[in-house]
Amino acid sequence: MKGRLFIIAGCSGVGKGTLLKLFLEKNPEIKLSISATTRKPRNGEKDGVNYFFISKEEFINSAENNEFLEWAEFSGNYYGTKKSFVEKTLNKGIDLILEIEVKGAAQVKEKLPDAITIFIMPPSVETLEKRLRGRHTEDEQTIQKRLNEAKREIEAGKKFDYQIVNDNLEEALNNLQKIFDAGVNKNAER
Ligand code: ADP
Ligand code: 5GP
Repeated sequence: MKGRLFIIAGCSGVGKGTLLKLFLEKNPEIKLSISATTRKPRNGEKDGVNYFFISKEEFINSAENNEFLEWAEFSGNYYGTKKSFVEKTLNKGIDLILEIEVKGAAQVKEKLPDAITIFIMPPSVETLEKRLRGRHTEDEQTIQKRLNEAKREIEAGKKFDYQIVNDNLEEALNNLQKIFDAGVNKNAER
């Protein structure tokens, strides 16, 4: 039996990282893929833990060698999922989560239609902005760039198999758990 592949996306600052940390503490048998990125590490982020932080040259080289299952540019940086890690994990029968942005999610869904896609929605754009600012990890220009992506991402998110509004954290966590426990791909059911 192969593992199941879940894709979780949502605007920057919506609470994906917060939700996933809590979710993975409760579900230690599920793995989270570590992406490669050309973004600089934030305070406290560690190479090989949060991301594999690599140079633009290394990234382009990996992309040209077809090492990525998907990759995309987001807010001025490159992000990509290593194909070999995904294949190995799923072949071992382990369920895997990709926390990636919407363009990458579409690439994976196209290649692996059984993947279950979940979009985390903000309660409102105002709340999203408050959360992104409240995190104190980005400068003003970066915040603006990320907010500018939000509308397009929310539109793309409407096409995902599931949407979860992250208003009350506990409620959002319960809804995420329900989707994993059911493990069905809504589109495949139709
Ligand atoms: P993302 O990973 O989607 O960019 P984060 O998980 O870093 O977002 O969350 C952004 C900020 O919003 C953090 O400061 C986090 O503590 C806060 N946050 C996340 N979920 C909620 C929630 N349900 N209610 C209030 N604040 C939240
Ligand atoms: P951040 O810089 O806040 O860590 O991530 C920015 C965006 O890039 C988020 O939407 C995050 O989900 C996305 N992201 C992280 N890793 C990957 C990846 O491997 N591929 C793609 N396409 N997006 C990713």
